[in-house]
Amino acid sequence: MTDTTAALHSVRVELDARSYDIRIGASLIQGAGTALAPLTSQPRVFVLTDGTVGGLYAGDLEKSLSAAGLEMRLKAVSPGEGAKSWAILGEVLDWLLSEGAGRDDVLVALGGGIVGDLTGLAASLMKRGMTFVQMPTTLLAQVDSSVGGKTAVNATQGKNLVGAFYQPALVLADTGLLATLPARERLAGYAEIVKYALIDDPAFFDWLEKHGLDVVALKQDALAEAVAISCRAKARIVSQDERESGVRALLNLGHTFGHALEAVNGFQSSLLHGEAVAAGMTLALRYSARLGLMDITDAGRAEALLEKAGLVTQLNRVPGGPYTSSALVEAMKQDKKGRAGKIPLILARGLGKAFILPDADLADVAEFLEGELH
Ligand code: NAD
Ligand code: MG
Repeated sequence: MTDTTAALHSVRVELDARSYDIRIGASLIQGAGTALAPLTSQPRVFVLTDGTVGGLYAGDLEKSLSAAGLEMRLKAVSPGEGAKSWAILGEVLDWLLSEGAGRDDVLVALGGGIVGDLTGLAASLMKRGMTFVQMPTTLLAQVDSSVGGKTAVNATQGKNLVGAFYQPALVLADTGLLATLPARERLAGYAEIVKYALIDDPAFFDWLEKHGLDVVALKQDALAEAVAISCRAKARIVSQDERESGVRALLNLGHTFGHALEAVNGFQSSLLHGEAVAAGMTLALRYSARLGLMDITDAGRAEALLEKAGLVTQLNRVPGGPYTSSALVEAMKQDKKGRAGKIPLILARGLGKAFILPDADLADVAEFLEGELH
C-alpha cells in the first residue's frame, strides 16, 4: 500500500530554539492529526481559516485530527484583506479566550497569507505566545508568507504596520490543496517562485525554464519540488537575518517597483501582489541592464519565463493601469523614504545574482520608467 500521507519534502528553518520543519507534499492534510498531536498536551486544536478555504478543507482537517484523538475548534473569517484588521484580530482573541485556550494549545492557520498573517499575530499575543502552526493553502503562502515568521494586520496608515516576528512550530504545505486555487492566484504565487531563482539560484532558473509550466499546471512532483526549493531559499535567508537588518531585503527583489504599481493601483484586486512582483522583477532586471550590470538578453530570459506562464511583464500591459512614471516614482519615494533623490533598490549582476543597491538615483529611475512606458 502506498502511504499517501508521507511528506515528499522536508525543509528545516534553522533559528536556534525557534527552529522548525516545513513539510511539503500532496495529501499532507490527511496526516495533519498525527503531525500536530506531539505539539500539544490538550485534546483539541484551534483552527482559524477563511470562509472559502474552510468550506473546502475544514472537513478533511477535522477528520484527520479526530483520527488522532484531537477535537477541532474552528473559526472562519471572511475572505479578503479586510480580515487583517484590529477588529478581526480582537474577535479572534476573544474567541480563543472564551474557549479557554492556553499557551500549550495549538492554533493552526488554514488558508492563504491573509489567514496566516492574522493567525500568527493572534498566536503571538495569546497569553504572550501560544503554539502556532501554518497550513498554507495558496501557492504564495506555501512558498513565501508561511515561512519566516512575519505576522501582521493592517492599519489605516498602511499595510502590515502592526505585527510581530513570531515563528510557527511547524509548516504543513499540502500541495494537493492548490487544485482549487483560482488560476490568477496560482500565477501570482509562481512569480514569487521565480523570484528565488533570480535572487541566488541560477540552477533553479534553468530548472524553471524546463519545468515551470509543470509547476503552473500543478503537476505534483514538479510543484512539490519547486515549493521545496523556494522554502529552502527563504529558510536560508531568514536563518541569516530573521529581522531584516541585511540580506533578508533580497527577498524584496521586484517589490519596490511592484509595490509602486500596487500603490498607484490603490491595492485593488485588479492587480494581485504577485502580478505586480512579476512586472517589478522585470523592471529591476531591465534597469540593471541599463546600468550595465547585466546582459539585456538575460533580463529577456527572465521576462520570457514569466510571460510563458501567463504573467504580464511589460509595463504598459500591466493590469490595473495605465501607470505613469511620475506616479510610480512618487509611490517609490513614499515607500522608501530614502535620502534626497536616492532609494535602495534590489538589482542584479546576472540571473541568480541579486544584490542591494543602497542609493539608486530616482531621477534616473524616472527616466528609465518613462522609456519603459513607450
Ligand atoms: P489570500 O490569503 O487572500 O488567498 C487568496 C484567495 O484564495 C482568498 O480569496 C482565499 O479565500 C482563496 N483560497 C486560499 N486557498 C485556497 C484554495 N486552496 N482553494 C481555493 N481558494 C483558496 O492571499 P495570499 O496571496 O495567499 O496572501 C496575501 C497576504 O499575504 C497579504 O495580506 C500579504 O500581505 C501577505 N504576505 C505575507 C508575507 C509574510 O511574510 N508574512 C509574505 C507575503 C505576503
Ligand atoms: Mg511578495
